[in-house]
Amino acid sequence: MPELPDVETFKRYFDATSLHQRIENVEVRDAYILKGISTRELARELKERRFKSTRRHGKHLCVRADHDLWLRLHFGMTGSLQYLKCQDHTPKYARVLFVFANNHRLAFEDQRKFGEVGLLKDVDEFLQKRGLGPDALDISLPQFKEIFGKHRGPVKTILLNQKLIAGIGNIYADEILFRARIHPATHVSALKEKTVAKLFRAARDILKKAIEANADMDRMPKSWLLPHRGKDGKCPRCGRELKSATIGGRTAWFCTHCQRRTS
Ligand SMILES: [Zn+2]
Repeated sequence: MPELPDVETFKRYFDATSLHQRIENVEVRDAYILKGISTRELARELKERRFKSTRRHGKHLCVRADHDLWLRLHFGMTGSLQYLKCQDHTPKYARVLFVFANNHRLAFEDQRKFGEVGLLKDVDEFLQKRGLGPDALDISLPQFKEIFGKHRGPVKTILLNQKLIAGIGNIYADEILFRARIHPATHVSALKEKTVAKLFRAARDILKKAIEANADMDRMPKSWLLPHRGKDGKCPRCGRELKSATIGGRTAWFCTHCQRRTS
């Protein structure tokens, strides 16, 4: 499921392929993922415009077209982008295709259709309406400490709550907690201030490194949890078997030796 590093990678891909070209048409192959707009409206609104710049907040990617119209993309569970040259075959799960004047196309692919495509006039208003917290890479240490001081519950549940911090999902929450050596079920009330600061640094470091690796699982360091998580996986730090548990409705992977539970 695309998380902050994946969406940042899509943002960079969008910037590198799809800006400043005249949009000739928008082809919708499955209107299910359109939110608050019809196929006809989407095409009518975007035709003749150009995409100018992109902005990511958490797992949302917004693209400004000229005359201040924003395209909104959310990648759901399986969403991704693919830029297609004229002769390239249209991928099976392409749901929306932005057709440019040179006949190249940008495909929004989404096998499971939990993704969302819509238009916005005002991004800040949208983020506010959704009640999203600050982006996990923009948040400051004082803001981070305040969130952990104000809320109760398991630390992983707080990290996953998009209304508190936007962008962290199941995989990277586990990775961040592994780096900070905190058990995912630890109650935030049991975390010392310096542990919260350690968690903050772990979050920044993991997210930035994942972006550097283009969110490509195969390029993640072997010292990370990611290449080992799953059944029969061994802790890359101590070699013991990794454990899993359901925390906040999601499957957490962790090492009970390296990530001791304090409370
Ligand atoms: Zn371990």
